[in-house]
Formats: sequence, C-alpha cells, structure tokens
Amino acid sequence: MANYPSPKFMECLQYAAFKHREQRRKDPKETPYVNHVINVSTILSVEACITDEAVLMAALLHDVVEDTDATFADVEQLFGADICGLVREVTDDKSLEKQERKRLQIENAAKTSRRAKLIKLADKLDNLRDLQVNTPTGWTEERRDQYFVWAKKVVDNLRGTNANLELKLDEIFRQRGLL
Ligand code: NDP
Ligand code: ZN
Repeated sequence: MANYPSPKFMECLQYAAFKHREQRRKDPKETPYVNHVINVSTILSVEACITDEAVLMAALLHDVVEDTDATFADVEQLFGADICGLVREVTDDKSLEKQERKRLQIENAAKTSRRAKLIKLADKLDNLRDLQVNTPTGWTEERRDQYFVWAKKVVDNLRGTNANLELKLDEIFRQRGLL
C-alpha cells in the first residue's frame, strides 16, 4: 500500500462517519459511534501492522450494515465485492434473538477468513479497552464481567491470526483473572 491514504479509503472514512453520525457508544460520555470504527481500523494499521487496505476499509465499515440503514448492496456498489464480503463476515444477523447472536459469534468466529478474524480481534480489543475504564450506562458490574467472559470465548476461536493483537487481548483477560 502506498504511504498515503487512497481516495477510496478517504471516501470510506467519510461514508462511515456520515452513516454513524447520529449514533453514540454506550459509555457514560456517549462517545460518537464513529470513534469506535476508526479505533478498530487504527488498531489494525498501527498495532497489527496490517497494510491490506481492504481490511482497513472493512474495519471502518464493520458496523455500518449492522447498525445503520446501509445495506450490503450499498457497500458492494460503493466499495466493491471484496470489502463487502469482509463486512458480511463480521456482521451479525439482526433478525435473530440477541442471545442466539452472541452464541453464533462464538461459533462462527472459527469459520471466518483470516482477514475477517483480524477485524473481529481488533473490534473486541477496542470494546474491551473501553469496558476496562467505563461501565456502559445501565450496565451492572456483573454484566460487564460477563461481557469479558463472552469476549474471551469469541477470541479463543480467533487465535493464530495476529500475535500482537492476541497478546494485548490476553493481557486484558489476565487482568480480569480469566487467564
Ligand atoms: P450487548 O451486546 O448489549 O452490548 C455490547 C456491545 O455494545 C459490544 O459488543 C459493542 O458492539 C457495543 N458497544 C457500544 N458501546 C460500547 C462501549 N462503550 N464499550 C463496549 N462495547 C460497546 O451486551 P451484552 O453482551 O451484555 O448483552 C447481550 C444480551 O444479554 C442482551 O440482550 C442484553 O440485554 C442481555 N443481558 C445480559 C446481561 C449480562 O449479564 N450479560 C444482563 C442483562 C441482559 P459493537 O462493536 O458491535 O458496537
Ligand atoms: Zn464494533
């Protein structure tokens, strides 16, 4: 990848920011949602040293179908079949019950492609970093603890993908007494 952002990468960043513009994360400060998808892409670039631009762009788009009115058809038309395929791999089926979606994330983690696993690892790392310092509004400490337990089950099925990300996740799990 060239050492400057491509026009498509910039359009992708702009599209993610636009689609998530009215959404906030669940932390008490209600951080703009787009900060999370930028964090996930940045973790992949800076901490995992990923230079595959499609992966970095799919990271920016990883919640856009799940959490906005964007469709896979929109993503494919704007950014192509490769990126759309990655977004599809990391998107939960919202027609299913929440508990079933959580179960499927564990089960499906092992079946996804290496590139999609990278995005899932970075997604979990960003969420857990936030949960280490914040309890989402309305959550009990027990619910936060349970999230770490569940996230470890997902991560355990993503292993062997990126040593640095897995090391950082394991450090968090160790701090929580899960390793
Ligand atoms: P949720 O799935 O409801 O919420 C966690 C998700 O919220 C994360 O995966 C992340 O997803 C997103 N998110 C948004 N803001 C933040 C933030 N600041 N920090 C971290 N993540 C954030 O959580 P649960 O796993 O707890 O709940 C699963 C189901 O169980 C729900 O139906 C819930 O109501 C129910 N439940 C669970 C309890 C428990 O003890 N676990 C107790 C009561 C109910 P993304 O990256 O996609 O944005
Ligand atoms: Zn996410």
